[in-house]
Amino acid sequence: MRALTVAPGIADSARLEDVADPPQSDGAVLVRTLALGVCGTDREIVSGAYGWAPPGEYRLVIGHESLGSVEEAPAGCGVEAGDHVVGIVRRPDPVPCSACAVDEWDMCRNGRYTERGIKERHGYGAEFFRVEPDFLVKVDAALGIAAVLLEPTSIVAKAWDHTERIGQRARSWRPRTLLVTGAGPIGLIAAMIGVQRGLDVHVVDHEDHQQKHDLVRSLGAAYHAGGLAKLNGRFKPDILMECSGAPSVVRDVLGRTAPGGIVCLVGVTAPGHDFDIDVGEFNRTMVLDNDTVFGTVNANRRHYELAGEALQRADKAWLNRLITRREPLDRWTQSLERQPDDIKVIVDFS
Ligand code: BGC
Repeated sequence: MRALTVAPGIADSARLEDVADPPQSDGAVLVRTLALGVCGTDREIVSGAYGWAPPGEYRLVIGHESLGSVEEAPAGCGVEAGDHVVGIVRRPDPVPCSACAVDEWDMCRNGRYTERGIKERHGYGAEFFRVEPDFLVKVDAALGIAAVLLEPTSIVAKAWDHTERIGQRARSWRPRTLLVTGAGPIGLIAAMIGVQRGLDVHVVDHEDHQQKHDLVRSLGAAYHAGGLAKLNGRFKPDILMECSGAPSVVRDVLGRTAPGGIVCLVGVTAPGHDFDIDVGEFNRTMVLDNDTVFGTVNANRRHYELAGEALQRADKAWLNRLITRREPLDRWTQSLERQPDDIKVIVDFS
């Protein structure tokens, strides 16, 4: 079968190659891939800056945003042939740590977790993959190709889950406003879930992008081009989700919320960006206002299920508009090249 592979640590080593069929040891369920989403993490792996091949191997099958159709599954395992499914990315560490021991692998304490297509486990970017029934989530086939958004939505569902748990430290917590920085797929999905929560949602983008503008407006949210500087400084959201991963934006969101506010950092940054910040002022605001800043990564099974519910509630046409480019398998490396109109780019296996 054909697979999308890279040599982690080596820039521009991505290629399409023939590999052996997926081994039984990957799991009892055999899945035929329909589509694979591409994200910043994949680009980082292809650039050589991130990613690990399985122990003793040199190349990694990339891909962690999956969607496929079940080919064969053991009776009674929860899915059957023809079901549309998405594979969970992370596997618990072998110790296991206290978090992995209770299936909260997204909160792994010792860093020895593995991730399909990212860290020491082959990914879902192949014509077929195998997966353990416990690490598979069934999706509504009526979602069509948009179900490939389940994995990025699971990341956002976790961000919302933890934001709400933090908020509930005060019995009076009733958030009304959400500010999202960054209008990529994660930022747009965060805004969509904010609207589903009934919040007044604002999305800040660094430059004016017509399609993102339209997508935000059709959610019933407000779009602000030109970065945080263009936003009225008096607007202090109850929740701020930082989804741009731009270091200067991260600096600017700290202390930017209303009292009791929560800043949730979802976007990943590269190291090596020094900025001056007034730590005294930042700490003073945080303490005197009971503010919180926290980071979140990955998702456990419950978050995939919450993500499935969010996608079910969403407007299907709106979800489809997030997928702006589909590259066929033999041109998959094109999916890694950023184009101005891109929002979510997928590799189409069908
Ligand atoms: C994936 C997560 C993963 C993270 C770090 C993200 O792109 O969506 O599942 O934990 O990268 O490897």
